[in-house]
This record gives sequence, structure tokens and C-alpha cells, in this order.
Amino acid sequence: MDYHINTKCVQSGYEPKNGEPRIVPIVQSTTYKYDSAATLGKLFDLEEDGFFYTRLSNPTLSAVAAKIAALEGGVGAMLTASGQAASMMSVTNICHAGDHVVCASAIYGGTFNLFNKSLRELGIDFTFVKPDATEEEIEAAFQDNTKCAFIESVSNPSLDVADVELYANVAHRHGVPLIVDNTFPTPVNFRPFEWGADIVTHSTSKYMDGHAAALGGVIVDSGNFDWTNGKFPAFTEPDESYHGVIYSEKFGKAAYITKAMTHLMRDYGAQQSPQNAFLLNLGLETLFLRMERHCSNALTLAKYLEKSEKVEWINYPGLESNKYYERVKKYMPNGCCGVISFGVKGGREAAMKFMDSLKLANLVVHVADARTSVLHPASTTHRQLNDQQLADCGVTPNLIRMSVGIEYIDDIIADVEQALAKI
Ligand SMILES: *Cc1c(COP(=O)(O)O)cnc(C)c1O
Repeated sequence: MDYHINTKCVQSGYEPKNGEPRIVPIVQSTTYKYDSAATLGKLFDLEEDGFFYTRLSNPTLSAVAAKIAALEGGVGAMLTASGQAASMMSVTNICHAGDHVVCASAIYGGTFNLFNKSLRELGIDFTFVKPDATEEEIEAAFQDNTKCAFIESVSNPSLDVADVELYANVAHRHGVPLIVDNTFPTPVNFRPFEWGADIVTHSTSKYMDGHAAALGGVIVDSGNFDWTNGKFPAFTEPDESYHGVIYSEKFGKAAYITKAMTHLMRDYGAQQSPQNAFLLNLGLETLFLRMERHCSNALTLAKYLEKSEKVEWINYPGLESNKYYERVKKYMPNGCCGVISFGVKGGREAAMKFMDSLKLANLVVHVADARTSVLHPASTTHRQLNDQQLADCGVTPNLIRMSVGIEYIDDIIADVEQALAKI
């Protein structure tokens, strides 16, 4: 039975047997007991399924990963300690020194640094493509040594909406997979696999957890990419560190995610904790309900701000006036996310005055949890930059990023109204 995604949020991934706990239990154990050395040997050889050490897998993590795989429509998923770890392993599961990645430039700042500094230092090269790139420009970024493309479906914080189908087509013409960071819309609003993406990543620290309680990430495998086209020897030649296993032969459609779990997680060890996975699962149970409210609150507030005389500009892809409105209608007709950005009249000072006057909305660096929150990049995350440098990275001195929560909308608007009145 294929349930609606709302039902999957609540129920998928865990089916207790007779007398077992109804809720996904926290298996707070690094290790597992077996009766015979032979059984344990089979687990180590990947001949049998089972748990032997939590760095590789754990029953709590497996249940929650299975739920997210069901939500995205993939064949398997692997939880990670953070969104950063998911981004890192999604790429290094495919790319090695000497390889190249085509990447959208409108991505999370942490991802940009990970790629542009840390992975470059490991010998992986990147070409960054601007958000309004044409098909020809995207095409031109590919090289003989390109092994994957990476984009964000809705970018944090610039709120650019990627043409996922176009990127998937171009990547596939070059025989490489497309990885999509789907953190902002979540699978409730957008499922990249339905548009040709091959791998999906998330920072589960955002809407999936939804309460700003637990750091985490996830990688999901669509199972659709053909790793045997000659470009990916790591999938088609024996892995000597695993008794010569050939991932594409032994694991078929699940080759990518099995390699990530048995090889990368074994070696890098950026595993999520069972406690965090338990909290993540509680968040996932209400993800569908929360996303509806985040999106309707954000749209109502965006429309209010669009009409306000104190507001110079507003960026929310769900607004008809937004340059991505048509793309949002195509890819995520039920809404994109709850994050908006806008600029108040009066520049940096007015923006700071506005932020300091808010009562309900709190100043935090986080986005995408239940509580409405704001951030003024020019005086916080980007404060080392002068006005010209800010302009170069698309941040104006008056830019305010607002993560619209799930409180009652009239209270959110009243708070914004009284703070705007102070400037
Ligand atoms: C926050 C974020 C990340 C990084 O996730 P962490 O859980 O903070 O490591 C990656 N991608 C996007 C789009 C994000 O918003």
C-alpha cells in the first residue's frame, strides 16, 4: 500500500512486532551481542543484515533513515551527524582527488566553504554556476573529469529556486548523477527524484527536526543512477578494503547508499547519535502539518510586507511578483518554505532598530524551526564585510532574514507591525 506523504511522515520506517515498543526506541548501545563467531563474521562480510557497531548502523538510526527514504521515494538512506557531514559524504562517495564537480553558486555558506576550501584541499575541483545560468552555461561548466553536479532546490539564504529537471538532464547527458540538497522545501513540498535527481541530501537540523533540538543530516539514494557506465570504477571494481566486494554487482540499485554506509561511514565516522535520531523522528511525525503552516504563515506575512510602506523590497518565491514564481508553481505547488528575506527602508540602522524592537520573533542564527526568528546578516554572519563586499554576495545592509514559525499568524504580523512602526 502506497500511503500519502502525510501518513508516511507519521508511520513509515518502523513496524513494531508483537509486544515491542510502539515508539521507535532509543537503542543507546554502541555494540550488539551474538551467540556465534560465525554469525558475526557473516555480518562483517556483508553476507547478512544486522547490527554490530553503531558507527556503521544502529536500530534507531535505521528506522528513522527508512522513514526519510520513504518520504523522498528512495531505495535507502543514511543519517549523518550533521548536514555538513551529509554534503561532504554525498560528494566524496563519488569523487576523489583529480575529479571535478559542477555546483550551483546559490548554496548554503557552510556548503560553499566545505567545497571551495576543504574538498579543494583534498584535490576535488569545483566550478560554480550562477543561479540564472542558461542551459548552455550549465553545459559549458562540465569537464571530462566531472563526476557529479550539486544544487540546492531552494537555496539558503538567497531563496533561489533551482531548475532541477534542467540540471538533471544536463548531468545525465554527461553520464553523471545530480545531487540535490532539499533542506528548505523538505519532501513534503518537493521530491527531487520525481524530476530526475539521483541523490538527495538534507540538513535534518532544520524543518525535519523542526524544533531546533537536534543536529543531523541525511543522504537518500534514488536507486536510479547507472554506476556501470565506465566513469565510476569505485562502484564497479572490487573494494579491497571490503574483501573485494563490487558494489554495483552485489547491491544493485542500492550500490551508492551501501557504499556510503559500509565504506565512508566506517572510515569517517560522522554518525548521528541514537538520541538525536529519536528527536528527529518526533519532528518528522509532524513535518507535514508544520510545513503547511510554515508556508501559509510565510505567504501571508510576505503579502503583508509587500504592501508595507516601510519595506523597500521583499524576496519570497511564493509571491506572484517573485522571479521564481512560475518555477515554484511547477515544482512545489503547495508551497516552498517558511523563510523570507526583505529590506526595510533606511538601510542598516533601520534594519537593526527593527530587529531590536521585535518581541515575539527572536534573534537567532538558526532557521526553519517552530519559532519565528530573525537574523541581520550585515551585523552578524557577514559583519566582517563592507557594503561593497556585501553587495557582491547578494546581501544588502538592510537585509533581514526571517524564518516564519508556526505561531498564530495574527500574532506574528502584530509583532512585525509594531517593530516596523519604531523605524
Ligand atoms: C544548515 C544547512 C546545511 C548544513 O547543515 P548542518 O546541520 O548545520 O550541518 C546544509 N544545507 C542547507 C541548505 C542548510 O540550510
